[in-house]
Amino acid sequence: MSLCVLLVEDDRELRTTLSEAMQVEGYRVLASASLADALAVLAHENDRGCGPDLVLLDLGLPDGDGEALLTALRRRSSTPVIVISARGSEPSKIRLLDSGADDYLVKPFSLAELLARMRVALRHRGTTLRPAVLQYEHRGVCVDLAQRHVARDGVEVHLTPTEFRLLARLVRSAGQVVTHRQLLLDVWGAEFTEHTHYLRLYMAQLRAKLEADSADPGLLLTEPGVGYRLVEATE
Ligand code: CA
Repeated sequence: MSLCVLLVEDDRELRTTLSEAMQVEGYRVLASASLADALAVLAHENDRGCGPDLVLLDLGLPDGDGEALLTALRRRSSTPVIVISARGSEPSKIRLLDSGADDYLVKPFSLAELLARMRVALRHRGTTLRPAVLQYEHRGVCVDLAQRHVARDGVEVHLTPTEFRLLARLVRSAGQVVTHRQLLLDVWGAEFTEHTHYLRLYMAQLRAKLEADSADPGLLLTEPGVGYRLVEATE
């Protein structure tokens, strides 16, 4: 059965282009041009016992803000949501990611980039049902979370316990941006969510140990003002 995508976008041209491209990729597409219509589609699909597998959500809609749909959806499901919006400000991205959006693409974006982010989001939804991701291997770096073993080019890398927890958190979300707040919360704890300087320090240490060129990272990427992303092993 093909995966179903709910596309919420009021720009008719973009809606058509995206719908066609996704159909070519084998997705079933439900398209909505307004918040009310999207909420009705979701309610209807839920009545039939099947919701969309992924939601692409524009924010500026004629009858309200797409964020309202994200909030409504998060009350009852973990369906991945990728925000597609012309609004690229950092506070807006952070708020949406912290509200449960899985990813955020600023318009204009490339179709290839969107399809890649969709695959990542869907893969993560799948992995939440299976045992957690425990291994990562890319660009000569091997991480085995179960064995607590990290190596670069076949040579063991020694990490401090905090460096390891930070890396492990990023491995579990490989391919996805994780906000500063989320990283601080998961690695250091609730009382440290404002201490972004910890992150800068520990990311610099991780990069020095793992990147071929720590000044030009190819693995541990900065999402400026938002957070960090460990490159998906297939990127
Ligand atoms: Ca719009």
